[in-house]
Amino acid sequence: MAEGSSEESSGNNLRDFMQKDVESRRSYMWYGKDIKAENKKNTRALVNKVLSYEHSSPFVNMLMLAMANSGCAVNPDTHIAIEECYPNTNVLGAFDPSNNQIVLCQNQFAKLYTKRGRYLSMTYLLSHELIHAFDHCRAKSDVYNNPTHLMCTEVRAAALSGQCMLQYNKIDASLSGLRDYHKQCVRKYALLSFRAMFPQWIDSEASALLDKVFPSCYNDHEPFDRMPLTIKQAELSYKAYQTRHRYSVK
Ligand SMILES: [Zn+2]
Repeated sequence: MAEGSSEESSGNNLRDFMQKDVESRRSYMWYGKDIKAENKKNTRALVNKVLSYEHSSPFVNMLMLAMANSGCAVNPDTHIAIEECYPNTNVLGAFDPSNNQIVLCQNQFAKLYTKRGRYLSMTYLLSHELIHAFDHCRAKSDVYNNPTHLMCTEVRAAALSGQCMLQYNKIDASLSGLRDYHKQCVRKYALLSFRAMFPQWIDSEASALLDKVFPSCYNDHEPFDRMPLTIKQAELSYKAYQTRHRYSVK
């Protein structure tokens, strides 16, 4: 899941969690315009833009290619679902392993005001959810029933999606000090996403689990060959991956 960023619960429960009461709480007709249909169309257009060659990010490119190479190629039309979500949450999207789908919340994107804000949010949200999809593809990680698996994939999603890159978090970074900023940011988002799925866990229990899994999960960079702390590093990693797979015998 990604908080403000996105996240997950199991199968149908996940969809229920994201959608409860939506229909009863909102009226979507406004001055004769169907806001819901408009949001869906705009969100799909944003996904297509982020996946297009000219606007694509090395994070998204890397993960789409890694999914294909792992036998789990992502078809945007069938594997990326755009739905109305419960309006009173910070959840922007989630990975639903029972349907092999990334679910994006069309109404949450409509709340973001600037074009650049929507583009960056979608880029890092898609990268985040693609890490969950990749972990599910390679290891069949049982994120909704196994808290250790969930915490681990949340650490990886926060670390490898670019959402904690210094260039987008300068204010937070200057408040906390630059040293180890990336690790602190990853810990913060992993914990937030985990708590969205397991709200019954108390802080100290969740933090203890995070401490336990953090070293191995943070240092597992697959499919990247290094921790991509900047766009440049993500590009280099993507190039290295392409070269590696060009010469590998299948
Ligand atoms: Zn997540």
